[in-house]
Amino acid sequence: MAYKISDDCISCGACESECPNGAIKEGDTSFVIDPAKCTECVGSFSESKCAETCPVGAPGPDESRKETKEQLVKKWQAMNPGKTPK
Ligand code: SF4
Ligand code: SF4
Repeated sequence: MAYKISDDCISCGACESECPNGAIKEGDTSFVIDPAKCTECVGSFSESKCAETCPVGAPGPDESRKETKEQLVKKWQAMNPGKTPK
């Protein structure tokens, strides 16, 4: 499932450059994750980079957007044609 950023976000910007999919951008009141691009870091890393990086624990799984590992790999492959997921 895609991750989302909670209201706890202090807009430090640390997570933006850590996302392997370029899914994180600055929003009006907090940074936001584009669910169409977030793969939970599947394809790139074994852990969620935004959650690992955030000093206040704002990113977390969005339970309303459940996806299987297979779906996340397919999403990653669509953004990285011809490449092999890690
Ligand atoms: S979980 Fe990974 S892919 Fe999703 S927004 Fe965070 S850093 Fe990006
Ligand atoms: S690292 Fe955490 S506090 Fe900083 S912008 Fe990202 S979600 Fe917000």
